[in-house]
Amino acid sequence: MKHQPFENWLLFDEPLNPEQAQALDDHLQVCEHCQMLQRSWQGVASLFQESPDPEPAPGFAGRWQTRLKNEQYGVVASRHRWQSWITLILIANGVSILGVLLGMTFFNTFDSLTELLLVWVYRLTSLLTVVNIFQNLLAILIRTIPGLLPPSGWAILAGIVSAGSLMWVLSMARLARMPGRA
Ligand SMILES: [Zn+2]
Repeated sequence: MKHQPFENWLLFDEPLNPEQAQALDDHLQVCEHCQMLQRSWQGVASLFQESPDPEPAPGFAGRWQTRLKNEQYGVVASRHRWQSWITLILIANGVSILGVLLGMTFFNTFDSLTELLLVWVYRLTSLLTVVNIFQNLLAILIRTIPGLLPPSGWAILAGIVSAGSLMWVLSMARLARMPGRA
């Protein structure tokens, strides 16, 4: 099927005389291709009409307040990030301490498989309880002290805590290398 000049008429929105308009109508009745072209072109045109004008936000004061709010939100968000990192490190510390203690007693206690299993079930539950208590304590602590420490204070605290973590990792590595256990 021949789509010209109808395609051009549709795309360039040329002013049509009544005969041309009739011819276009007739063609659109039978031609799916040009129907689709017309629909999509109308869609694009309405999109252009609907898109909002790129005007600035009304008023300097309003813009300034928005910016201020965003900045405050950023500060709060970064503080929350710090707190969750510290929580994670503290929990890791507690778990590694418990891990070392459990590992030290593990090799002294197993006489039979049943006993071993019972002991481990007991220890696992007590470990979970301890971790749970630890988490609750931290949650309370973190809810109460955020205002007391500036971000730099949190950074120092995080440094101390991660140094503690490193010490635990090192001592665990030394423990693992200790001879005469197997
Ligand atoms: Zn056509």
